Amino acid sequence: RIVYVNGEWLPESEAKVSVFDRGFLFADAVYEVTAVIGGKLIDYAGHAARLKRSLGELRIPSPTDPDSLLEIHREIVARNNLDEGLIYLQISRGPADRDFAFPKNPAPTIVLFTQAKAILANPKVETGISVITIPDLRWARRDIKTVQLLYPSIAKMEAMRRNADDAWLVEDGFITEASSANAHIVTTEGKLVTRSLSSAILHGITRASVLDLARSVGVTVEERAFTPEEAKNAAEAFITSASSFVMPVTRIDDGPVGDGLPGPVTQRLRAAYIEDRLSGAI
Ligand code: PLP
Repeated sequence: RIVYVNGEWLPESEAKVSVFDRGFLFADAVYEVTAVIGGKLIDYAGHAARLKRSLGELRIPSPTDPDSLLEIHREIVARNNLDEGLIYLQISRGPADRDFAFPKNPAPTIVLFTQAKAILANPKVETGISVITIPDLRWARRDIKTVQLLYPSIAKMEAMRRNADDAWLVEDGFITEASSANAHIVTTEGKLVTRSLSSAILHGITRASVLDLARSVGVTVEERAFTPEEAKNAAEAFITSASSFVMPVTRIDDGPVGDGLPGPVTQRLRAAYIEDRLSGAI
């Protein structure tokens, strides 16, 4: 692969970041993942806007302007002949002698790489995924997309150890979100329920698009917290993320959700998201 590091295009074996980089030493970095379908960027404007917000919340100066950032995304797709997959972008506060205090004149590090992946033809779409519920032990600013991903990584490993695909995280008795996606349920009355926006969850770009689409096709959306019990008794469940779009959840803690098959509302929203976002891809 050809990767992008601080203004340079390099084969991945030649790309380097300092051992003093604060992204490495303090997880002092933010990231974005943007899907690519047919060589085009999906929901790019949302990801660019959230990146700006994450940088602002952490006072990391942006190393690029919006036009160049889009250009870099387009160029990495072209240089890697990426048809379908993901673009990973990370911006850290950059290298500085190790100190908890931020450096006075930070020189942020920007890295992008691609990952080829079948998003549309993901075989899990047919069966849905299984999730476990486990405590949410992340920090309290989950609205900032930082690279502090150790707990989500542990959660995912625990899910795999228990033969499940992913974990839904629980705080104060309510589901916050999945390890790397937003969590949604569909009630037996056909209402879409998903946690409202706050610092408890990442403000998913796919979540926002799917909620808009749900409303436009006449699905009632309730943005509120829900419990694992409510999820287990729901008609349908699904997750949303840039890497999975809309993915059915058919088992929670070893029991089926509804009849244990991907539900009609979930399938309709997945189809609507794909149709709408592909036509808006840039
Ligand atoms: N929540 C968490 C914790 C995530 O890591 C992600 C994506 O990586 C999401 C939600 C979904 O966000 P998006 O739809 O913007 O990919």
